[in-house]
Amino acid sequence: AVGLSAIRKRFGSHFAVDGISANITEGEFFVVLGPSGCGKSTLLRMIAGLEHLDGGEITLSGRTVSGPGLHVPPERRDVGVVFQSYALWPHMDVGGNVAFPLESAGKSRRAARAEAETHLKTVDLMPFRDRRPAELSGGQRQRVALARCLAGGAHTVLMDEPLANLDPHLRSTMEEEIAAFHHRAGATTIYITHDQREAMALATRVAVMARGQFQQVAAPQDLYERPATAEVARFIGRSA
Ligand code: ATP
Ligand code: MG
Repeated sequence: AVGLSAIRKRFGSHFAVDGISANITEGEFFVVLGPSGCGKSTLLRMIAGLEHLDGGEITLSGRTVSGPGLHVPPERRDVGVVFQSYALWPHMDVGGNVAFPLESAGKSRRAARAEAETHLKTVDLMPFRDRRPAELSGGQRQRVALARCLAGGAHTVLMDEPLANLDPHLRSTMEEEIAAFHHRAGATTIYITHDQREAMALATRVAVMARGQFQQVAAPQDLYERPATAEVARFIGRSA
């Protein structure tokens, strides 16, 4: 479960995240939708521990991880992240990156490598197994991060537009893979997308964000049938 209590983040005089509160329950697939620049990535980075807060509090499974005078570092939050800009260990090859969470969970190096290969096949990156992240494209790195996330047993999974740079066929395979992973592992997932169809297909609830705030949080069907404001209606493609 993820608890957000009046969290804020300021860059200069501008609040990128401006007082967000929500209780995301255990096992939920929570999608954040909103226009470019509304603060989605900043919100996710705060939950991951990559940004300090300027106000409010974050709890993960009931444990306060960000708050006044408190900041638990990212590696001690039990979160799996798929972010384009923050992803892989540069000193390890692709296979090692994906095997890492499995080895950390106590599997032998051999078993971890073998299991990592099944995840690398899923993201279509087996030929790149022995490369370093620096030798991959942005989209390929993102897929390695996705494979590592599928391999890991993180309690909370944070994904920032994980399908954004993929070609259409890989995108639909990966969407199914993410849905299956969520079904199987049951990790509480917070997922950012620009794609409303993707949001409607995956979400248990959707938050529509604008100007650093949640405008409405609802199940996909409710959001579609009962948008709270004209802005939400416009954003999800309905005329109010
Ligand atoms: P997109 O959909 O384009 O990815 P977003 O909703 O993820 O957008 P953010 O990246 O969270 O938006 O940015 C929110 C606001 O905060 C923007 O106005 C952005 O310019 C600003 N911002 C983000 N990071 C920084 C930073 N490190 N320093 C200054 N301003 C920042
Ligand atoms: Mg973003």
